[in-house]
Amino acid sequence: MPDPDDRVILNDLHSRLNTTRVRTVHAPTSTADVVAAVRSAAAQGASVSICGGRHAMGGQQFGEDAVQLDLSDLTAVRAFDPERALLSVGAGIQWPGLVRELEQASSGSSRPLTFRQKQTGADRLSLGGALAANVHGRGLRFRPFIDDVESFVLVGAEGEIHHCSRTEEAELFALAIGGYGLFGVITEVTLRLVPRHHLRRNVEILDLREVERSFEDRLRAGATYGDFQFVTDPQATGFLDRGVLASYVPVPDDVVPTADPVELTAERWQQLLSLAHTDKARAFDLYSAHYLSTDGQVYRSDLHQMGVYVDGYHDALGGPAASEMITEVYVPRGELISFMRACQEDFRAHDVECIYGTVRVIEPDDESFLPWAQGARACVIFNLHVEHDLAGINKAAADFRRIIDRALERGGSFYLTYHRWASRSQLLAAHPTLPAFLAEKHRHDPDDRFQSEWYRHLRRTLED
Ligand SMILES: Cc1cc2nc3c(=O)[nH]c(=O)nc-3n(C[C@H](O)[C@H](O)[C@H](O)COP(=O)(O)OP(=O)(O)OC[C@H]3O[C@@H](n4cnc5c(N)ncnc54)[C@H](O)[C@@H]3O)c2cc1C
Repeated sequence: MPDPDDRVILNDLHSRLNTTRVRTVHAPTSTADVVAAVRSAAAQGASVSICGGRHAMGGQQFGEDAVQLDLSDLTAVRAFDPERALLSVGAGIQWPGLVRELEQASSGSSRPLTFRQKQTGADRLSLGGALAANVHGRGLRFRPFIDDVESFVLVGAEGEIHHCSRTEEAELFALAIGGYGLFGVITEVTLRLVPRHHLRRNVEILDLREVERSFEDRLRAGATYGDFQFVTDPQATGFLDRGVLASYVPVPDDVVPTADPVELTAERWQQLLSLAHTDKARAFDLYSAHYLSTDGQVYRSDLHQMGVYVDGYHDALGGPAASEMITEVYVPRGELISFMRACQEDFRAHDVECIYGTVRVIEPDDESFLPWAQGARACVIFNLHVEHDLAGINKAAADFRRIIDRALERGGSFYLTYHRWASRSQLLAAHPTLPAFLAEKHRHDPDDRFQSEWYRHLRRTLED
């Protein structure tokens, strides 16, 4: 065992609430490297934790004293099949790199191909992280990311290699997608591609009642992507109700993307984030004015999903140590307005500081073992300001639990791994298959080779 002083301290990039001292960090560049690293960890009796872009906030990418595998260098394209619209690539690749590879693979083609959905709000997230969390983007008619995956290569607890798809090792396919790194290391992903096309952005400022109607209109008009960014100023009459509805409708290929589109630069984002902490009314005015000025712009179907993330933006805000923490809850679509009304009251009563928030939609996932999309749902994201002292953490935990309760009361659920503050009863109410998921984990990895702080917390909480 290495000298404890030689261990490496890691943290996630967004919440920075997950300082973890790992045993060593390895950056494999091939599946064979991963096999060797897992076998070597097994020989030492060490656990293995896996990370890509390190953006997850629940501690699911690091384990105290674990051998850390950082997949960021495993990025090579292995195969491109334009006929079947498939790309096989190293799981550590992040979205900007993937866009470059796809442009290169499709260059000169009359039918360029690209990905269908990615997360919004950050780009330096890995494909492995996208599978492990079974992510979603702002699609209006899509299921979670499992729908975009043809197959993947997984290195299991003994260092053995699995080729997982819907027809081969289907059980592991369903467990590892949305399995938060607990079933092995995904080293290569074969992604289902779609034809790259063009979309026109439509921007409206509406309240939630109007959004329902407009949303149906936009769907009838053929919109395929969209989201609603709501007011977070508790003094405003439109608090958690009024917002910017942006939707995207496909246009013919000869309608070219807007040259020099109006975009939010990193500096402008920093300014908006700063105002969102100090003058939320002004932040919304500037943000909505910006969005309205982009109404009618035409985008490439992949590039409109890319977004600016200013690394370490919170440092520039000054004040005591703090950051933002995200939660995402899911409610039946007919319950959205009632849920948001309940949050309005709750946030005002408890001084909950929401920095920004979004509503999106999702279609049900009937493929993964531990699905978070358990029906056609409205997905509500709150990015809350969290002070890093004990009082701040306790307040955040209580705030997030109440948000979950409001969703559960309406037949909803919540995203499992954004934080570790859900109670045992909340976990089991929203994710009734969790005990079966842990049983599968034990069956596939009886020595608990793959661990993380989130997994350890989950076991402690459920096995209490
Ligand atoms: C600002 C921000 C915006 C976000 N927006 C969205 C969004 O719009 N939609 C959404 O669904 N999610 C969103 N997320 C959550 C994010 O998609 C997930 O946390 C995702 O897993 C992060 O990917 P990563 O590459 O940073 O992974 P990491 O944080 O490094 O790891 C996350 C998880 O993936 C596992 N993992 C990573 N690579 C592998 C691999 N190769 N094999 C096996 N397991 C692996 C890790 O063990 C861990 O469990 C957002 C998060 C942030 C901070």
